[in-house]
Amino acid sequence: MNTLIRHAGDFRWDGLPVLNYKEDGTHFKTISRQVLFEGGPKLGAQLRYFEILPGGHSTLERHDHIHSVMVIRGRGHCLVGDAIYEISLNDLIHIPSLTWHQFRATTGEPLGFLCLVNVDRDKPELPDTANAAALKALPKVGEFIRL
Ligand code: MN
Repeated sequence: MNTLIRHAGDFRWDGLPVLNYKEDGTHFKTISRQVLFEGGPKLGAQLRYFEILPGGHSTLERHDHIHSVMVIRGRGHCLVGDAIYEISLNDLIHIPSLTWHQFRATTGEPLGFLCLVNVDRDKPELPDTANAAALKALPKVGEFIRL
């Protein structure tokens, strides 16, 4: 791993590929992923940068592993649990274990955030029909979520 990876401008870094957010191609819209730091077994964590283009969203999901997120570009909203939060530059968001979450670029600008995650982690669960119905029944959450 290089000691220094220079920022190449526009939230790109020298030599780091801009990847698809996920490989399954479903349940998300206009979002990219860059792995900034691969901690491997020694650290056990990965630092990623996600960027959602205006109007896009991340997958509505939950999982046992947790996320620590920091917004470093733009503004938007996120669902965590049963609440919607307005998020902007340098805000920190904690996604607890087994908690539904989704990020959306709602303000006509890209929403970019760092996300710290375990290297070894469980696969995200998507809402089934019953989960989706329960989420849709919640005030504000129902209109917010994108499936
Ligand atoms: Mn997640």
